[in-house]
Amino acid sequence: MRHFSKILYISFAVIAFSGCYGKEELLLNNTKTIVPLYKGEEKSDCDTLVITCIDYRFAFANQEFLNKKLEIEGNYDHISIPGSIYNLVNPSTREIVFSKITKFVNFHLTKRIVIIGHRDCGGYGGSSAFGSEIAEYVYLTTDLKKAKQIIIEKYPTLQIDLYLETLTKEGIQFEKIK
Ligand SMILES: [Zn+2]
Repeated sequence: MRHFSKILYISFAVIAFSGCYGKEELLLNNTKTIVPLYKGEEKSDCDTLVITCIDYRFAFANQEFLNKKLEIEGNYDHISIPGSIYNLVNPSTREIVFSKITKFVNFHLTKRIVIIGHRDCGGYGGSSAFGSEIAEYVYLTTDLKKAKQIIIEKYPTLQIDLYLETLTKEGIQFEKIK
């Protein structure tokens, strides 16, 4: 595998958070714009924390999957990190990523974490960094399970759901990983 230390630098330059508390006002070209709150947004807690990669190819599908398939629209915080959970699994960067997760879990009394990893992830050097499709699948699903274990050790009562997504001709396929 390649050496990914540079990922840490970009991780926290572009790490993106969104969640139950959407911004009420956005500034676009110096014009004040009001964006309506989603229903339920005035709640003080949020049941689910979602962790995904920042990869733009999956962004729309992720929203559709979360809102329509998992039916958690308006009830989740969302952390996007390059490489998804690569920096959580990596011992040298684990603490800083884990500290972000614990902030959300403690602040919003999170009950469930949904982690979505994907094939051909730039954080891992893309599919070409692996010898075969099977090798990539095994590596990524092993990392997802490791991430679950790391979180469970601190929060044993949390429900953690793992998914691996793949670009196919038909669209983005989500597979639940057990
Ligand atoms: Zn990625």
